[in-house]
Amino acid sequence: MYDVNKRRACCRAYQKRSAKYRAKEKAKNRQSRHDRKVAVMNLYGNGSCTFCQDDDIAVLSLDHINDDGVKDRRISGFKGMGDPFYIQLLKQPKREDLQVLCMSCQFRKRKYGRDFSLWPKGRRAVVSGARVFSLEEYARKVG
Ligand SMILES: [Zn+2]
Repeated sequence: MYDVNKRRACCRAYQKRSAKYRAKEKAKNRQSRHDRKVAVMNLYGNGSCTFCQDDDIAVLSLDHINDDGVKDRRISGFKGMGDPFYIQLLKQPKREDLQVLCMSCQFRKRKYGRDFSLWPKGRRAVVSGARVFSLEEYARKVG
């Protein structure tokens, strides 16, 4: 007897095995992770580093203003921050204890402390309607 459910299960299993399907899934996941990061960076820093206005999504990260990120990691149980943390944040109202910093400024904060006024002068870039690029724009920009 022809069993439509069996046929469907077989078809799905074949799809999952196929490299083309997996590549497509991988690209889709990559795009959604990127979109979530863009959304979080736009929400917490208007798409650029709070200190130097660097708007390269590749170097932007979330910073716990009071250096209490360990609390978040303990509560939620995940080791890294990144995407699982972004997923949680996008479900919550905006928090006041987070800001966007680029990796350079993360290191500056570690060295010079939380108070921006104590950081070396002349590092702040010109604010030019800074925003985060879409993945396509970004690809075009980097070439
Ligand atoms: Zn910066």
